[in-house]
Amino acid sequence: MSNKVFDVVIIGGGPGGYIAAIRAAQLGLSTACIDDWTNDKGGPALGGTCTNVGCIPSKALLQSSEHFEHAGHHFADHGIGVGDLQLDLKKMLARKDTVVKQNNDGIVYLFKKNKVAFFHARGSFVKAADSGYDIAVVGAVNETLTAKHVIVATGSSPRQLPGVAFDEDRILSNDGALRIAGVPKTLGVVGSGVIGLEMGSVWRRLGSEVTILEALPSLLSMADEAVAKEALKVFAKQGLKFEFGIKITDVKATKKNVSVTYTDAKGQTALLEVERLIVSIGRVPHTAGLSPEAVGLKLDERGAVLVDDECRTNLKGVWAIGDAVRGPMLAHKAEEEGVAVAERIAGQHGHVDFNTVPWVIYTSPEIAWVGQTEAQLKAAGRAYKAGQFPFMANGRARALGDTTGFVKFIADAKTDEILGVHIIGPFASELISEAVVAMSFKASSEDIARICHAHPSLSEATKEAALAVDKRTLNL
Ligand SMILES: Cc1cc2nc3c(=O)[nH]c(=O)nc-3n(C[C@H](O)[C@H](O)[C@H](O)COP(=O)(O)OP(=O)(O)OC[C@H]3O[C@@H](n4cnc5c(N)ncnc54)[C@H](O)[C@@H]3O)c2cc1C
Repeated sequence: MSNKVFDVVIIGGGPGGYIAAIRAAQLGLSTACIDDWTNDKGGPALGGTCTNVGCIPSKALLQSSEHFEHAGHHFADHGIGVGDLQLDLKKMLARKDTVVKQNNDGIVYLFKKNKVAFFHARGSFVKAADSGYDIAVVGAVNETLTAKHVIVATGSSPRQLPGVAFDEDRILSNDGALRIAGVPKTLGVVGSGVIGLEMGSVWRRLGSEVTILEALPSLLSMADEAVAKEALKVFAKQGLKFEFGIKITDVKATKKNVSVTYTDAKGQTALLEVERLIVSIGRVPHTAGLSPEAVGLKLDERGAVLVDDECRTNLKGVWAIGDAVRGPMLAHKAEEEGVAVAERIAGQHGHVDFNTVPWVIYTSPEIAWVGQTEAQLKAAGRAYKAGQFPFMANGRARALGDTTGFVKFIADAKTDEILGVHIIGPFASELISEAVVAMSFKASSEDIARICHAHPSLSEATKEAALAVDKRTLNL
């Protein structure tokens, strides 16, 4: 029996892979997507890490836990009493699972609509074939596909502490952290990156005493320094405990708790005893099971597929995108690469502007930025001007009752081109889009300052920060 032949076969159905599949199909290419994620009923669960154990469930729990915190601590400021506040964690987790399922099902619908052939299976390289590559599909059905082009979109998996395996009971990856059955009295988090901060925030809001251990000397070293300082101040006030500059020497889990021995910043041995421990020390590209050696696909020392700026691998017709390659591990970066690769395969000029990929941390306050930080510009010797505007002076933020943080603009000293925008405060995740658009169109800070922004809105803080670059804020 001859193999099914496709113009494009995509291995991995996360945000990189499923979006690449839809775009390839839109462009008239016969397209198949192979994904092995399996739900608790044994069925497919398209959407990868992002949909199943990442972006979507974490945001569902962040929202629920924020409602809980508001009801417990902030509704009274608005004159609303809620009496005896109850937490139904089982229901909260079930709601999160429903949100995930809606997203899984949405992708199945999109595949049908766009005529993408879907295989719930593991995909791996078999050999180079005359017209492309043979790909083994191993799952509910076993068969071999032939692909003129292959897009590797196999994503990433959580990095474990050396010698400390995830048991998802006491020692949790992001997966276990999203489904703890009862609120732990004490929770340790190793790593104060995006995932550690978001997961730490969820469980603190629900009642855990949370301690975050971080090897680096300060919080959010990749963010603008002013934002990182403000974030630390606010998170500490909320009750998150931080220890920086630590080195973990031993982790022991029993049926009841986890003991973490570490050397603190002063070189003293210290012990943290917690009910559960989340380990969020980064993620590693997931290329195991792909059999790259069968075709000679080159990986780097971390297991990431080696690609050029346009996601081309060392093999003609094989591309790789998303968390499985270099660059920030962000869903929207994976999606942009997926679209660009599908367009390149179709002979178009797909493009990803890595300078305008936004970063968001969905804590409260939210943190978002795009472009460069002051420290990066100083290191590059580029002259710049900066302007900042606090939400404290914004009418909508006052009405919301959330005046934490600020918007900061950084622009070229001579041309005034916007080089970076950094936001900490309410709805930073939404506000950052204006900055992304502005930077994509190479706008100056004056361009933003001259645009009419609705009143009262948080976006007025963006306009005011742009005015602040020229030292002419109107409301400060
Ligand atoms: C807790 C958490 C929160 C996050 N929050 C955000 C956020 O708010 N915003 C954001 O931008 N990013 C967020 N991320 C990161 C985001 O999830 C990833 O950057 C994104 O999922 C990467 O997409 P991808 O398509 O490259 O890979 P993935 O989403 O990892 O998908 C890869 C898919 O390929 C499948 N696969 C792997 N190997 C094979 C094989 N051989 N055969 C078949 N299938 C295979 C996997 O099972 C998986 O389904 C978060 C991550 C975590 C863990």
